[in-house]
Amino acid sequence: MNLELDQATKTAIEMIRALGKEYLRPLGMEADRLYRPIPADHSFFQMLAESGFMARGAAMGRDEDRENEAGAAGASSGQAKAASKPAAGSQQPAKKSGGKRTGNAVRGVIVSEEGAYWDRGAMVTLPGPGLGAPPVAKMGTPEQRERFLGIFNTRERPLWAAFAMTEPSAGSDVARIQMRARKDGDEWILTGQKMFSSNSARAEWVVVFATIDPELGRAGHRAFVVEKGMPGFEVLRIEAKMGVKAYETASFALDDCRVPADNLLGSEAYYSARANRGFGGAMETFNATRPVVAVHSIGIGRAAHDRARDFVAEEFPAHAARRRRRALERLVGIRRRLEIGKLLCVHAAAVNDEGKPNGREAAACKLYSPPAALAAIQVAAGIVGEAGVRHDQYLEKWARDVKMLDIGEGTQQVQRRIVARHLIGPDIAR
Ligand SMILES: Cc1cc2nc3c(=O)[nH]c(=O)nc-3n(C[C@H](O)[C@H](O)[C@H](O)COP(=O)(O)OP(=O)(O)OC[C@H]3O[C@@H](n4cnc5c(N)ncnc54)[C@H](O)[C@@H]3O)c2cc1C
Repeated sequence: MNLELDQATKTAIEMIRALGKEYLRPLGMEADRLYRPIPADHSFFQMLAESGFMARGAAMGRDEDRENEAGAAGASSGQAKAASKPAAGSQQPAKKSGGKRTGNAVRGVIVSEEGAYWDRGAMVTLPGPGLGAPPVAKMGTPEQRERFLGIFNTRERPLWAAFAMTEPSAGSDVARIQMRARKDGDEWILTGQKMFSSNSARAEWVVVFATIDPELGRAGHRAFVVEKGMPGFEVLRIEAKMGVKAYETASFALDDCRVPADNLLGSEAYYSARANRGFGGAMETFNATRPVVAVHSIGIGRAAHDRARDFVAEEFPAHAARRRRRALERLVGIRRRLEIGKLLCVHAAAVNDEGKPNGREAAACKLYSPPAALAAIQVAAGIVGEAGVRHDQYLEKWARDVKMLDIGEGTQQVQRRIVARHLIGPDIAR
């Protein structure tokens, strides 16, 4: 694995750092305190759209080859990629390995970590196709990729897309989804509910996973693009979350929502070509997005580490030399865990960039990183004392933000099962 960053990635980190200081952290803090996501009509989003930020992300989503969509990954996918591609000519797919160019997925992970350092909630609310991009890139026909990702080329106004798998009775066990899809002539009729779908209330379109027959289990899964304004699509509520409040997480219903046959991702041929292909597409999406979500927690943990380091350097009482030494030792420990977490995330992305299956690596980094970040925040809070629990400081917010990441994109328990299956085989690890 080549760990040297190319110039485009370095530039993207600088760009996201500048955005982070000026916008992401203050807006994230404001959203947290007001208990209100950043409004879709906020001038910050308009400014980003006009600057071409969103258009750059959309271009990358379309130009990647099919083995390499993972760079579209993540809650911040479009955003990370958008930010990560300011340089001309950086739209080509990553080299298979060993080349100078940083792979798209690796770049997405590295840039996302920097964004989450400033504010993970605000990072996820940046306009772009976001979590909707990987399934369209992975499963869609070339026409669908152009049609759905192409709209993000506009500089006129900010746009979002979303991904909806989770249902009231199907979270970890996605094979149990109940959203029904029935074919009726040239249309599909979708009926059911989705919950905890990030940015779906403001999205131009949402990738909705449904089943043609729950009895078929995984074999019945299909992915549809449901567009804003389609009759029967109703947002039920915006969730009041404990953390990452800057972006909206919504529940919605589809009530006999009619979707053109052209909105079935990949067309019918895609699903008949191989068994369980719809379910497999969802799993591949998770394998692309998990390293990004996992590295977000590392970014937050690094912020906590830096807060405590600065406290030790600048605010620690001069006479407390032993306490300072002890604090530094604890900081070294958490820094090591954060670095391990980041390497696991980069590795999972690098395997994806090579076009190889990365299910084990994606689960391993998602399993490891949020607890490492939570530990970092706890240690930092212990070092800074009362500033660690005060509402007007960041540490208590970061603890709430990271806990959300321990659940979204698959819980720790579920990741553990995936890694175990890879270790000793699916039959023994049931
Ligand atoms: C911030 C955030 C954003 C999200 N964004 C999206 C989104 O954009 N789109 C989307 O579709 N979903 C989204 N989700 C939903 C998320 O993917 C689910 O919350 C997650 O998969 C867990 O499902 P659940 O909440 O129903 O928990 P459950 O599946 O009900 O699990 C409850 C508990 O049981 C444990 N458990 C479940 N099954 C097993 C098992 N087999 N073995 C051991 N333990 C088990 C779990 O680990 C957990 O501790 C988001 C969630 C969060 C928190």
